[in-house]
Amino acid sequence: MSRTAAPPSFTAASDNAPRVQAAPITEPDPAAVDVEGDGAPGSAGQQIEARVYAAISQALLSGKLRPGMPLRERNLAQALDCTRGAVRKVLARLGFEGKLVLEPNRGAFVPQPSLDDIRQTYRARRVLETGVIASICGRLNDAQLAVLDAHVETEARSHADGTHERSIRLAGEFHLKLIGMADSAELDAFAHQLVAKTELYKALYDPAEFMHCAPTEHAQLVSQLRDGETQAAISLATAHLDELEARVLTRAAAAETPDFRAIFAEAFAGEA
Ligand SMILES: [Zn+2]
Repeated sequence: MSRTAAPPSFTAASDNAPRVQAAPITEPDPAAVDVEGDGAPGSAGQQIEARVYAAISQALLSGKLRPGMPLRERNLAQALDCTRGAVRKVLARLGFEGKLVLEPNRGAFVPQPSLDDIRQTYRARRVLETGVIASICGRLNDAQLAVLDAHVETEARSHADGTHERSIRLAGEFHLKLIGMADSAELDAFAHQLVAKTELYKALYDPAEFMHCAPTEHAQLVSQLRDGETQAAISLATAHLDELEARVLTRAAAAETPDFRAIFAEAFAGEA
C-alpha cells in the first residue's frame, strides 16, 4: 500500500489525539502552537514543541527517515527527551501539513508515495507555476524583482557552501515567493502543500546528493520574467520541474523494484 502525504480527515491512533481536518496548509509556525494546553505564548511547553517539530522536520528533510517508516510516540519521546503528549501534537501538526501520513489506529508514518502520487504532485506544480508565470511575466515591479534577485543570490551562496537541507528549503522558497507574486492566498495555500510534498520526495529518494533546483535556472527565470519573455519562461519552468520529477521518479522506481539479480547473485552464479 502506498502512503501519500495527502492530509485527509483522520482520527489519530492515540487517546486524546486531536481530530485533524483537511485544510489549507500554511507556513510552519511552531511558536504559534499551544503545547500542553497552557495557552501562554513562548511558554516552556511551546519551546519544547518547537524543538521537537524542528528536529523531526530536519530529520525528514535530511532523508534520515525512510519512506514508510513508523514514527512511534514512545520512541520519539525518549529520543527527544519530551512527553508523549508533545510528540503527539507535533505528529498531528506534521500530518496536517502533509509531511507525515497519519493512519487511524496505526499511528504516524513517513510518507511512501507511489510513482503515480509523485507524478500527480509534479503535474499540479507544473500547471500552477506555468499559470502563475503567464499571469505575472513582464508585470513585476522593481521591488518584486529585487526580492527574487536577492533570493537567488542567497541560494547560490548556500549551494556553494554545500548546506543540503538549507538549499532544499531555499529552493522551495524561491518557487513560493514567485507564486506569492500572483497575489492570491488560495494559490499560496495550495502551493505550500505541493512544494512541501516535492521537498519531501527529494529528501526521501535522494538524501545524499544535491538534486534541488539549480540557482542558475532560477536566475535565468527571473531574467525572463523581468524581460517579459513569457513563452521562454514557461518553457524553462516546465523543463525545470520535468527534470526534478524525472530524478525523483528514477530513484523512487529503483526503491520500489528490488534488484533481484543482486539479491540472488549467488544463485544465478550457481546456475551458470
Ligand atoms: Zn526551482
